Amino acid sequence: MWLRVIVAGLVASSLVLAQGQRQAVSLILTGGTVVTMDASGRVLSPGAVAVDGRNIAAVDTPAAIAAKFSSQTTIDASGQVVMPGLINTHTHAPMVLYRGLADDLALMDWLQKYIFPAEAKTVTPDFVRAGTRLAALEMIESGTTTYADMYYFEEEIARVTREAGLRGVLGETIIQFPVADAKTPQEALARTESFIKEFAGDDLIVPAVAPHSMYTLDAGSLKAARALADRMHVPVLIHLSETTDEGKTSEAAHQASPTGYLETLGFWGPRTIAAHGVWLSPDDMSILAKHQVSVSHNPESNMKLASGAAKVVAMQQAGLVVGLGTDGAASNNDLDMFEAMRQAAFLAKLQTGDPRAVPARKALEMATIDGARALGMDREIGSLEAGKRADVIAVSVSSPRQTPMYDPLSHLVYVTRGDDVRTTIVNGRVLMRDRKVLTLDEPRVLNEARALADKVKAAVR
Ligand SMILES: [Zn+2]
Repeated sequence: MWLRVIVAGLVASSLVLAQGQRQAVSLILTGGTVVTMDASGRVLSPGAVAVDGRNIAAVDTPAAIAAKFSSQTTIDASGQVVMPGLINTHTHAPMVLYRGLADDLALMDWLQKYIFPAEAKTVTPDFVRAGTRLAALEMIESGTTTYADMYYFEEEIARVTREAGLRGVLGETIIQFPVADAKTPQEALARTESFIKEFAGDDLIVPAVAPHSMYTLDAGSLKAARALADRMHVPVLIHLSETTDEGKTSEAAHQASPTGYLETLGFWGPRTIAAHGVWLSPDDMSILAKHQVSVSHNPESNMKLASGAAKVVAMQQAGLVVGLGTDGAASNNDLDMFEAMRQAAFLAKLQTGDPRAVPARKALEMATIDGARALGMDREIGSLEAGKRADVIAVSVSSPRQTPMYDPLSHLVYVTRGDDVRTTIVNGRVLMRDRKVLTLDEPRVLNEARALADKVKAAVR
């Protein structure tokens, strides 16, 4: 009896001690299935994530997290999957304002009759800000936490992205012909340099150099773009081998593929993301692998514009890191990365005739940790691990469409949609909770976008 009292007393006092020693953190998500996407593929069901400031403090069972951490803010993720935020490795955010303007056209008709005229008459800093707010709203609501972007007035895109709380790898488009924010490539390069200086060391924005493509820039501008990126230690974003026409033009002008031509210019280097790569040959793939260039695969845009089916499995076998992108919403027509995962898996199966191509786990990796690798940010983001940035989403898996659930990875890729996302957290900040976006005024953003649509319609009339 005595002994029991003493033991009970000891247990009670050690509990008090343990509680006293619990580390106070800013946020705890608990109760859901935690899909970490770490190297060991750890899934905790149930699991919990402790977030302290901008970082993940720990990922463990709910009991272990409760024993070690306390928080004023706890999010109950029961019936949900908690996972790393999705990484869109290629888009043009403000193009959401051209969504559905013109569809079902040949690429050159679509570009020359609709997109280029609309851009020439409507792209202004105000337009770009409104478009980015709309895109940010859509990305937050569909679980994208980081995106790579190239467009015009990119500094405005960066400011809106930072206000919305999203992470962005953003580059001012450099192109040979006069565009809204630069009359020459030199002007665009100068603009890029001041953009890089303005956002150097920013917590959310990684400035990049974004030469549009090998077919819209001369050799001097392409070399200058690479030199600027090397000098400022920033990533490079470029379009590559999107269509067969691009390949034909390159062969005729340079007797080389687009990849081979850029190799002769000394353009390739690490931390470079080549968007599309639909028509890469095995030789092209080995050139890119040699220089540690990554590829952004954009299955929906490639299908909608009938550009072709990128050989994703062959790229991965050649040692290339392949991230996943939506491309601009004008050729998709949304920014839903869940759909991009599903289409990447489906297209690879159709393209190879092998249902084992791009299995669910690989599609998820492409949208998370491989996307982080492609952007050179896998030490910070792409998986749920202590010490990484707290870019976390919680996704409902309780709808009829998702019932029953044998394998959360299968469900995330094959039946889940962007609007199943309940909570979106970037850098430890809650941007959306229970589908309510906290950093943007949704009705205002939608009204602004609808008002601008009238100007867009008038521009292509
Ligand atoms: Zn693009």
